[in-house]
Amino acid sequence: MNEKTRQCIEEKIERILREFRFSSRSKEHPEECPNYPRQKPCHDIPAGELNCFFCVCPEYDNTREEGGCCISNPEGKWFYHPSHPKGRIWDCSDCDHPHREENVRKYLGALFGLINCEFKAYGTGIVKICENDSDFQDFSGYIDP
Ligand code: SF4
Repeated sequence: MNEKTRQCIEEKIERILREFRFSSRSKEHPEECPNYPRQKPCHDIPAGELNCFFCVCPEYDNTREEGGCCISNPEGKWFYHPSHPKGRIWDCSDCDHPHREENVRKYLGALFGLINCEFKAYGTGIVKICENDSDFQDFSGYIDP
């Protein structure tokens, strides 16, 4: 990729990031999310920093009925309930990984070829970043209970 192309992609990514910040998206497109008119972000991140581009996390494993996290992020947890067919379901409510702007920038960089990594149709079907990519957090020490 030549430098001009790289610069152009980086500019587009920064534009996407700006447009999808909670603070701007909620004003420009208040109809898109019930939290926008209330000005109440879904995670405890300042509205100017929370990014809504990945409303659904690209790491959520929807290949299993009980869900799961493709990177075993320790901020997620199992929620156990006897009425669920599998007895438990993966709960991401305490995890802000997909809403952190630095993470969104990396996923978009991977999608547009700025980061050299492996792509797979996985989880929610967007991207799966190879786990040994040093740009991404390593949660390999996490043990699934
Ligand atoms: S625990 Fe976090 S990183 Fe894992 S699927 Fe849920 S929101 Fe995504």
